[in-house]
Amino acid sequence: TRAGGFVVCALVIALALSTTRPREDPVGELRAAIAAGEIVPFYQPVMDIAAGRLIGCEVLVRWRKPTGEVVSPGAFVPLAESSGLIFELTLALMRAARDEVADVYALRPQLKLGFNIHAEHFDNDRIVKDIQEIFGHSAIQLSQLMLEVTERAPLADLAAARRSIAALQALGARVAIDDVGTGHSGLNYLLKLGVDAIKIDKMFVDAIGTERYSNAIIDTLAELGRTMRIDVIAEGVESFEQVEYLREHGIHMAQGYVFAPALPGQAYIDLVEAMCHD
Ligand code: C2E
Ligand code: CA
Ligand code: CA
Ligand code: CA
Repeated sequence: TRAGGFVVCALVIALALSTTRPREDPVGELRAAIAAGEIVPFYQPVMDIAAGRLIGCEVLVRWRKPTGEVVSPGAFVPLAESSGLIFELTLALMRAARDEVADVYALRPQLKLGFNIHAEHFDNDRIVKDIQEIFGHSAIQLSQLMLEVTERAPLADLAAARRSIAALQALGARVAIDDVGTGHSGLNYLLKLGVDAIKIDKMFVDAIGTERYSNAIIDTLAELGRTMRIDVIAEGVESFEQVEYLREHGIHMAQGYVFAPALPGQAYIDLVEAMCHD
């Protein structure tokens, strides 16, 4: 019959679609990408703007597909976080960065290597164990590591986070609060964590010279850095005017497109070799 033929036709089409098109499984794809080494580090230089020196870099994750396409973290880090793949992803990224920059970093122990760490990675000292395993026997020293935890996602257990941070510091690593001013935690809470540095979000840097309110925030954070004796790093710095303002207001460290975007490994290594004659 006509109806029967139609059903057969529909079944054939459905079957064809299901075999030619991969099934939608974004978590499975991401897991496979990690296993295949498609999760790669890019490196954004961090500058000492008082001394005009390279301090090191922040590692920013990229997904390099076999097609050559490079995907930004906004497209897959949220999925990694909600699926729990973020731990595995972070470890893969750390191993890849370690292997890539070990030689140039071993010769220049003053250079820092920064990573973004998910808040839950601080639970149960998990990050402490992972850091020791990955960097314990490498040419990169633990004192070269800077671990950034964002203020956006609150740390569930403040006391546990504080212990983890102290344990990392005992190993020589440093810890920074990222995106300061964008979350809801308040400075008092942040300072209780005993971190070594704070990173001022681009949002406040953008407003330099335009909004008195944001200038006041930058001045306050600079003052806080001085009294607490912690480093203050400005991010998203795009102009020389901003660099000047930051320098004049006692902020010594900065990263942003005015210096360089996140660079592929070899480009960053070339920059290190050009800037640090050790
Ligand atoms: P973030 O940690 O605040 O990183 C800074 C972001 O600002 C980076 O974007 C960087 O490329 C960009 N940026 C730096 N300088 C400038 C500038 O002068 N102008 C502008 N317009 N942008 C600038 P990216 O690489 O797309 O990373 C976005 C976010 O993804 C990061 O923000 C971080 O929250 C997250 N992320 C990146 N890598 C990782 C990772 O390995 N683990 C985790 N958990 N999150 C990561
Ligand atoms: Ca960061
Ligand atoms: Ca940041
Ligand atoms: Ca930011």
